[in-house]
Amino acid sequence: MAYRDLDFNLTDEQKALRETIRKFGAEVMRPAGEKLDKLADPKDVIAKGSPLWEVIRKFRELGFHRRSLPKAVGGMQEDMDPMSNLIIGEEMGYADAGLTISLGACGMPFAYAALFPHPKLQEMARAYAEDTKGELVGCWAITEPDHGGDWSLGGDNPKCGPSVRGVLKGDEYIVNGQKAAWVSNGTIATHAVFHVGLQPEKGMMGQGLAIIPLDLPGITKGKPLDKIGQRPLNQGEIFFEEVKIPREYMVVTPDLGVMESMGEFILAGANGGMAVTFAGLAKAAYDEAFKYANERVQGGVPIIQHQNIQLKIFKMFTMVEAARATTRRMALYNALNQPPSGAHAVAAKCFCTETAFQVASEAIQVFGGNGLSREYPVEKMFRDARAAMIEDGVNETLSLAAVQYL
Ligand SMILES: Cc1cc2nc3c(=O)[nH]c(=O)nc-3n(C[C@H](O)[C@H](O)[C@H](O)COP(=O)(O)OP(=O)(O)OC[C@H]3O[C@@H](n4cnc5c(N)ncnc54)[C@H](O)[C@@H]3O)c2cc1C
Repeated sequence: MAYRDLDFNLTDEQKALRETIRKFGAEVMRPAGEKLDKLADPKDVIAKGSPLWEVIRKFRELGFHRRSLPKAVGGMQEDMDPMSNLIIGEEMGYADAGLTISLGACGMPFAYAALFPHPKLQEMARAYAEDTKGELVGCWAITEPDHGGDWSLGGDNPKCGPSVRGVLKGDEYIVNGQKAAWVSNGTIATHAVFHVGLQPEKGMMGQGLAIIPLDLPGITKGKPLDKIGQRPLNQGEIFFEEVKIPREYMVVTPDLGVMESMGEFILAGANGGMAVTFAGLAKAAYDEAFKYANERVQGGVPIIQHQNIQLKIFKMFTMVEAARATTRRMALYNALNQPPSGAHAVAAKCFCTETAFQVASEAIQVFGGNGLSREYPVEKMFRDARAAMIEDGVNETLSLAAVQYL
């Protein structure tokens, strides 16, 4: 039986878009994600011929990578209404959360580059819009081995500022230091948007933001990280040794006051996307449990006929609907209003990732022993959701950063 979705008065175009992305999710993302998850060595996830590359390529062929870029550089941002963006994000999270994050991180440096007028940055964004082969891959490099929660809570404490440092010499910044193994797409990225300490005495308020190609001399990468959840999402360190970064690539410097004035924008950005993705994963775990409960026979009847399973299924349904409702409210508001609400985005991120984790855990319970087996999909969803409660900021540190906006 199909999930009873409430009608949001979707247009015919939005319904067609949902079918396209759902098909891509079911036929490309989900099977690739399952295969990638089972690879024992994370090096195989990024190896030539790995299903990862097919996912990236097919996503580009559909043109959805252009949705975060303006038409001026070949994008389709202006044609994407907020509901369409939401539908794409939720359906992708439903199919495979780790791959959704990877595909999202792919576009980050290029979406930032499009915001700045320098011809080199505009060209960078245009090249990504035109790339249907999956040759350009982006990442967002912020976390450092000794600075994780500091990015949310460090403020102007000099002890909490970035260890990756940049010093302006003439028309170049000389950058040294290391980003942590947590950088999504870190092992395969060709470009990065990365955070760098320019005025160490100001802690995190002294950071700058640069958009760079990662083939600059002095940049090296670490080995792919091995972890329990979101295994299709490759992650790895990036090292900087005396890297010369042209001044035009340092798009944000501390004197612009961005960190002081843009806190809510920053919180609203990535957290909004995380909420949508994991509302999708929660629904996927629910759907698997519902289907299994109708098929599995114990006590002479499908287990859905037992009241304990019915109560569990209904509780899961309630949680999924609450996650989707709060996400829609937040995402539609934030897409249309300036400033967006960072508090609502963080609330939705925390609620949806924790809901996804709980619903996936309950799905394992509905599956019984099979729920623990790698032959069935729900244990992977459980692991993927667990990672999300740390990803893009630990839920507790994000909450502490967001509470000031209430
Ligand atoms: C799947 C995944 C994808 C990721 N993708 C990226 C990416 O693309 N780019 C990137 O740069 N990073 C990425 N990260 C890194 C992620 O943002 C960090 O792991 C996260 O910010 C936490 O940092 P940490 O791991 O160093 O933990 P820590 O900061 O060491 O936190 C450890 C514990 O201490 C608590 N804590 C920390 N600081 C404080 C404080 N000041 N006050 C109170 N409690 C505190 C935390 O709540 C936590 O429970 C990713 C992580 C995951 C899991």
